[in-house]
Amino acid sequence: GYRSRSAFKLKQLDREENLLGQGDVVVDLGAAPGGWMEVAAEEVGADGTVIGVDRQRIDDIETDATVETIRGDMTDEDSREQVREVAGDVDVVISDMAPNMTGEYNLDAARSAHLARMAFETALEVLDSGGDFAVKIFQGQDVDPLREDMEAEFKYVRTMTPDASRDESSEIYLVAKDRLTAPVRVGD
Ligand code: SAM
Repeated sequence: GYRSRSAFKLKQLDREENLLGQGDVVVDLGAAPGGWMEVAAEEVGADGTVIGVDRQRIDDIETDATVETIRGDMTDEDSREQVREVAGDVDVVISDMAPNMTGEYNLDAARSAHLARMAFETALEVLDSGGDFAVKIFQGQDVDPLREDMEAEFKYVRTMTPDASRDESSEIYLVAKDRLTAPVRVGD
């Protein structure tokens, strides 16, 4: 079994939108405890790489794939820089980041949207052309503007609600396929 129920959400996103392939380099943001990393490692196989990032510790994952973990906060420029350095050219960026819930809906949604923005910015910095990006965001007024910005950078964007998300909350996933351009890195 997987170490999180979230694992089944990524499996469904992958089944429906074909995100993960053999040999891919995958960056997984908000990766603890590591369920998505387990799924990604299975799909990329021995030639692939999974880089997991979280504020929390991630226990080692048993896999043939190359696995790296970064302990960091993706709202910190230093952590984003570390991700850029470790990752190189990336095929897929996935983010399941979620804020600590206050129970005040608008605040939680705004924080979720901020994390989703950070994931999008990181995707633009590391993702190769042709690469894919999937990000969790809570429903609210910030979803449409993010979706529009994503549409400008990818061939298409779909809004998805995996079955395992339905009972739980107002979370949705924006799945963007086929990045149109390659990242421009200062210093390259
Ligand atoms: N996908 C994971 C899995 O399958 O095991 C579950 C992820 S959990 C729903 C959300 C994660 O986002 C938490 O582990 C939390 O620590 C992380 N997170 C929230 N804000 C973050 C931030 N600013 N930087 C990095 N990780 C963050």
